Amino acid sequence: MSVTGKPPYDPQNVFARILSGEIPCKRVHEDAYALAFHDIAPQAPVHVLVVPKGEWCSAADFHAGAPAQEIAGFWHAVALVARQLGLEENGYRVLSNMGPDAGQEVGHFHVHIFGGRRLGRMVPPGPPA
Ligand code: AMP
Repeated sequence: MSVTGKPPYDPQNVFARILSGEIPCKRVHEDAYALAFHDIAPQAPVHVLVVPKGEWCSAADFHAGAPAQEIAGFWHAVALVARQLGLEENGYRVLSNMGPDAGQEVGHFHVHIFGGRRLGRMVPPGPPA
C-alpha cells in the first residue's frame, strides 16, 4: 500500500471500506464531500477523523489533484464538524499525517481533529535532524 502521496490508490484501504459501508464507523457527519467519524483508538477526549469521499492517497495527492470545489467542500466539513462537536470555544487541533516520516498508516487522505483537553506540544521532542 502506498502512503507516500503518490498513486496508485488502494481501494481496499480501511477508510475506503468505511466509505463503502463495508466496515462500520461511529459517524458524526456526512455530506457530498466528506465523512467524519470517531477514531477507533482515540488519543484525546475528542478524536475524530474527516476523510474526503474521493480516492486520494494523502494530503499531497489530494491538494495536487482534487478539483477546487472538492477541496473547499472538504475543509468546510472539517470546520463544521469541529463547531458541531463544541470545540470552538476551547480550541482544537487539526492534523494530517503525510507519508512515512509523519507515520501515515492509512492510504486515504484524512485529517484528525483533536480536542477536549490541553493538547500539549505540537511535535514530540526528538533529534532536530
Ligand atoms: P494515520 O496514522 O494518520 O494514517 O491515522 C490513521 C488513524 O486511523 C489512526 O488514528 C487509527 O486509530 C485510525 N483507524 C484505523 N482503523 C480505523 C477504523 N476502522 N475506524 C476508525 N479509525 C480507524
